[in-house]
Amino acid sequence: MSVATLGIQGRCAHCQATLLLKPWQLNAIAINEAFTCSHCQKALELRCPQQIKRFKSLDSLALVRASAMVTLCTALLVALVMEWIGLISVTEQLNFSLIAVFGFFALIDHVRRRQHLTLVLEAARVHAD
Ligand SMILES: [Zn+2]
Repeated sequence: MSVATLGIQGRCAHCQATLLLKPWQLNAIAINEAFTCSHCQKALELRCPQQIKRFKSLDSLALVRASAMVTLCTALLVALVMEWIGLISVTEQLNFSLIAVFGFFALIDHVRRRQHLTLVLEAARVHAD
């Protein structure tokens, strides 16, 4: 995964800097490990359950995108077949296709906006073990 496409930022609890999280930092978050701030080098972790949930849902967003593509192709194909067997007119088929394409891009745009999040990071607890 690339940082540029994900665009996930994190705010450091120590220095309040907003960091564009690097792949290794995203990895650490994914496995609930502490990592250091690239600005002040102090230990950070993501502890808020809601934010962790949102972070983990990014994977399923990619899945939503893929299945939306399949749905769009199916919808366009169905419209073509319906026009071909005379169930709908050419105009209806074009309208339907336009709506399907429009809906697809609206969803992709929504997914893209959901991916731009800023995580509020907390100071990592010192583990006793
Ligand atoms: Zn920092």
